[in-house]
Amino acid sequence: MIGAAPASKESTLKRFSMHVGGEDRAPSSGEWFETEDPFLGKPWAEVARGTAEDVDAAVFAAHQAFTDSAWSSLTHTARGLLLNRVADGIAENVDLLAGLEVRDNGKLLAEMRGQVSYLPEWFRYYGGLSDKIEGTVIPLDKPGYFTFTRREPLGVVAIITPWNSPLMLLAWKLAPALAAGCTVVIKPSEFTSASTVELVRIMEAAGLPPGVVNVVTGYGAEVGAPLVAHPLVRKVGFTGSDTTGRHIGAQAAGQLKRFTLELGGKSPNIVFADADLDAAVNGVVAGIFAATGQSCIAGSRLLVQSTVHDEMVDRIVTMSKAARMGNPMDAGTQVGPITTRPQYQKVLDYIDVARDEGATVALGGGPADRPECGDGWFVEPTIFTGVDNSMRIAQEEVFGPVLAVIPFEDEEDAVRVANDSHYGLGAGVWTQDIGRAFRMSERIQAGTVWVNVYRAVSFMAPFGGVKDSGIGRENGISAVDEYLETKTVWVNTGAPSSDPFVMR
Ligand code: NAD
Repeated sequence: MIGAAPASKESTLKRFSMHVGGEDRAPSSGEWFETEDPFLGKPWAEVARGTAEDVDAAVFAAHQAFTDSAWSSLTHTARGLLLNRVADGIAENVDLLAGLEVRDNGKLLAEMRGQVSYLPEWFRYYGGLSDKIEGTVIPLDKPGYFTFTRREPLGVVAIITPWNSPLMLLAWKLAPALAAGCTVVIKPSEFTSASTVELVRIMEAAGLPPGVVNVVTGYGAEVGAPLVAHPLVRKVGFTGSDTTGRHIGAQAAGQLKRFTLELGGKSPNIVFADADLDAAVNGVVAGIFAATGQSCIAGSRLLVQSTVHDEMVDRIVTMSKAARMGNPMDAGTQVGPITTRPQYQKVLDYIDVARDEGATVALGGGPADRPECGDGWFVEPTIFTGVDNSMRIAQEEVFGPVLAVIPFEDEEDAVRVANDSHYGLGAGVWTQDIGRAFRMSERIQAGTVWVNVYRAVSFMAPFGGVKDSGIGRENGISAVDEYLETKTVWVNTGAPSSDPFVMR
């Protein structure tokens, strides 16, 4: 979808160019498009409108860098140290990067500062892993051979990111890709390109050789599609919607490329009557209204045991009603705007859908008409009760501050409703019964189950989805395998030459 407005000729807005082969690159199209500030509801910068020609230049630069000695002859230890210097560079620029994120995606400065301050850990963790990537010696069943494996980088990796947490979701791919020795072309969301361009500049200032990481900005159809299709790209790491993910997966599979897909969710946050309800209320509100619900792991379905349904709803409504909305740059703000104009409309449309389906509005239910929200794209925190799990509001991802409350009777019922979804990204379980906590974590179909906590992530903890929520895992030690190929080497140490027509 082409989402932002074209830039006018006389514009004086700040411009963000692409970054290819260690240099800023103007778009070959000569065109720029405006990127908007969701709080002000108006443009604040212009971004280069990349084309297939720019993609070609970037992939070529990455391909050259892959074989160039400045990168390829670095020892694994030196590569790890370099990633640590990159981490230092990010740590020194937290305010700059977080400020750009807020300008583009409207999420709270506190949230973006938290995310950006945490980013260096990905580069330190995978930097540390870089010289622990080892092959194995195979204790072969056949005498006379020394047989071992080498773990080799795939080559050029394409990384395509969404707008909700641009740098964090990028780091989840970029750090292990670089630790593996790959080179990269990034295509950030057209709605939030600025911070990625700046990040790559910071990485190069920290010593990353030119061409190892490149950025081509622009639209999905004009930049993303040719990048996925480029014959020199060996792997695609994607985070975004399941619709785009399916398309990318099919295209990559057609060219026998590797791919990892981190997609959407409709995660259940399940509260049992035996839970610490104070903690559960907090966890439910955090799960859906933090980041204005624009989180793949948003706990957008509250499954609550019927005996505490009314109490939970009252308490969640009370806490959510008091949430302060307004300028995401202000320390006191708790709920910011929706990141993009189309997403704002989509959230409002889903509120209408839920009403039409017969759900009851317990809170909110429309645009936020508050002076502190100005002309921004704000939606009131919205809670629907009387939701049946078969309704669209319970099955489809809204990606906004809209909670669907569904009662259940017992554990069996909770599992049935939780798993009755084509998604399977995250799930929360609130209970003080240890046995139930383990049973639920085993039975729920999701990539992550949080017990008495919600929306926690770490560079060490594998993350990803089952069912339509994705393919592959990011974070943790094994994520580096997504960027490595295994080569097996056989050396004859004395086995006799044998019949050429019979397999050895
Ligand atoms: P999107 O799928 O619209 O876009 C994601 C990226 O894909 C953008 O950079 C876009 O330009 C690009 N793109 C679009 N069409 C393309 C094509 N044909 N070929 C290649 N690239 C193309 O998603 P979005 O609206 O930016 O992000 C919101 C979605 O992302 C939600 O569904 C959310 O759940 C999901 N998400 C998932 C995770 C996760 O880790 N599982 C995290 C955050 C967001």
